[in-house]
Amino acid sequence: MTYYQRGFGLKESIKPALRADYHSRIVEGIKGSGYSLSAGDMTFLLAREFGFCYGVDRAVEYAYETRRQFPDRVVYLTGEIIHNPHVNRRLRDMGIRFLREPDGGGPGLEQVRPQDVVILPAFGVTMQDMTLLRSIGCVLVDTTCGSVLNVWKNVDRYATAGFTAIIHGKYAHEETRATASRMSAVSTGRYLVVRDREEAALVCEYIRGRGERRAFLQRFERACSSGFEPDTDLGRIGLANQTTMLSSESVEIQEMLRQALLDRHGPEEIDVRFRAFDTICSATQDRQDSVMAVLARRPDLMIVIGGYNSSNTSHLAALAAKSAPTFHIDDADCIVNAGLIRHKPFGAAAPVESSDWLPDGPLTIGLTAGASTPNNKIGEVVAAIAALRGIAVD
Ligand code: SF4
Repeated sequence: MTYYQRGFGLKESIKPALRADYHSRIVEGIKGSGYSLSAGDMTFLLAREFGFCYGVDRAVEYAYETRRQFPDRVVYLTGEIIHNPHVNRRLRDMGIRFLREPDGGGPGLEQVRPQDVVILPAFGVTMQDMTLLRSIGCVLVDTTCGSVLNVWKNVDRYATAGFTAIIHGKYAHEETRATASRMSAVSTGRYLVVRDREEAALVCEYIRGRGERRAFLQRFERACSSGFEPDTDLGRIGLANQTTMLSSESVEIQEMLRQALLDRHGPEEIDVRFRAFDTICSATQDRQDSVMAVLARRPDLMIVIGGYNSSNTSHLAALAAKSAPTFHIDDADCIVNAGLIRHKPFGAAAPVESSDWLPDGPLTIGLTAGASTPNNKIGEVVAAIAALRGIAVD
């Protein structure tokens, strides 16, 4: 097996392709004028931190480099490289094949032959997938983000120290599945994934001795390690997060669980029963802070651009929705006309249509985009909204 983790030194030669695929003159223009753009009686306010993060930049670059380095080989991705439909489509157009599709389809990892090249995505893969790929002996190009590797390092410590990892995340998300799989490295490794405060409160109740075992195991059936035993496995816990969760919620969940252990076992035991560290990545934190700064300027509405299955994008939309009418759209096609927009409210199972979303008269529109959204998709949205009032911004 050949393993690459640092690219192929082809950065300069793929630059024109990346620029052609993802660059936006409109976005560069907005950044250049203080993250603000006036178009007629509309003002767009762009968050200072938005769009591609360092991890996504690196993963996408490596994928382009890999295609160039191995023009005659079959190149696979284990699944979506990041959660943005346009980027994934572009990689398919370049002839990169997907082993697993978001709907569960795809040929599967078993199809890989030793001479093939497999790209691992920014969120990493499970230990089981890694073992299988290593046994095939193919070329591996690992784009796992450094911030995800940092989570793994800490979770590995929990496993060896006999702490159950409580992961604030979505159990089906690739990153959380990869993180949880780290606990399988030792026979005593255990994990439990909690999605939000509500689920954390159930865990707290159980720790305090008020839960019912069967109901608890049913609720977390798909979100815990096999053989999970809440009566013993919640005795010593270590907290971790999926890197893209809402940081304020992660902090709150940490404190809820610490308090539950304090109530159950007293302050003298807390140090041997509870561990925590913040694993929200700085890119996620910066984007969440920046959307708050835009909201402080009281926009009339917020547009959040990014894939509907992008965790960090949907959390930006959730934050924005607390203070302004918010529309999470995946691209400019969602803007049907001034009276109709397709968007996905936070927590909704599917996109919906809303009418009369763009009020008449002077408007301030806040804008942000998730860490997997390319700039050209942001620029297209600005152009589409301005065009509704007959203004060409390009
Ligand atoms: S959101 Fe954070 S963890 Fe995920 S790829 Fe970007 S920098 Fe890495």
